[in-house]
Amino acid sequence: MSGIPVGISTCLLGEQVRHDGGHKHSRYCTQVLARHFDFHPICPEMAAGMGTPRPAIHLREIDNELRLIEAKGSADHTDSMQAVIDKVIPTLGHLRGYILMAKSPSCGMERIKVHNAEGRVVRRDASGLFAAALMKAYPLLPVEEEGRLHDDQLRENFIERVFAYDDWMQNVAADLTPGALIEFHTRHKFQLLAHNEPLYRKLGPLLSDLKSRPIEQTAGQYIEGFMEAMTCKVSRGAHVNAMQHLMGYLRDSMGDEDRKVLLEQIEAYHRGELPLIVPMTLLRMAQRREPVDYVELQHYLSPYPDELGLRNRV
Ligand code: SF4
Repeated sequence: MSGIPVGISTCLLGEQVRHDGGHKHSRYCTQVLARHFDFHPICPEMAAGMGTPRPAIHLREIDNELRLIEAKGSADHTDSMQAVIDKVIPTLGHLRGYILMAKSPSCGMERIKVHNAEGRVVRRDASGLFAAALMKAYPLLPVEEEGRLHDDQLRENFIERVFAYDDWMQNVAADLTPGALIEFHTRHKFQLLAHNEPLYRKLGPLLSDLKSRPIEQTAGQYIEGFMEAMTCKVSRGAHVNAMQHLMGYLRDSMGDEDRKVLLEQIEAYHRGELPLIVPMTLLRMAQRREPVDYVELQHYLSPYPDELGLRNRV
């Protein structure tokens, strides 16, 4: 089985493409995520013909425009970067996620320093030129910086989004039908509920009438709201709410004692004494014992492969 196509800054794979001739190898990417993701590496600066090693560059704001200029000189690489953006970005529509190298004036996702014409830092709120073009072209694409993947919650959230977006691209966008749209919503209902209950309540009714306007329009509005919801951090309280809803469907597969133990574990999770994997495993056991079709469909119980161990840490 091939992995999910995910873009990545080349230096994170250990390739020596940085301006200083080095790399920024991320073992988490190459040793863990690479088992599930098929990485598509891009080094925009190498693609722009800048070579390695090369002088460091930074962002300068000149006449209200961000330009890529050598930090200790005046050589301007903006046009060659723009040529890379124009050529490469339109070819990335097949990707389901993107992992960027932080702090780079080309690849950085956020908080990139901007200098004035004299080279003084005037703000730190930009994105690298390539990253900005990527996020503008593909606003639904899950994008994250490698450094932020060290945070348990951000990592879990990003990976969950990549798997959900992959499901959308493979099973809905590739052949858009009312049935495919409704089935997608059905299998992600509990994830939506956990991530953002108000959006969950808005997105369901959006699909109740699929005849009064073109399906492409409804699907576009739906996936925008869906990906926005999935970007929201799930609180312990929101997981408790979703798990209690799921328990309702599993009433018949649990005896009184099982139910009591599960409620105790959910409460202990709520108090921060246990990771999510503990009550979730009990729910999965109950479902396995006496499968309920509707629950079987729910990606909430297994949004990504267990071996990633993400729910041990949130
Ligand atoms: S941060 Fe981006 S531009 Fe810089 S070396 Fe890595 S891949 Fe290349």
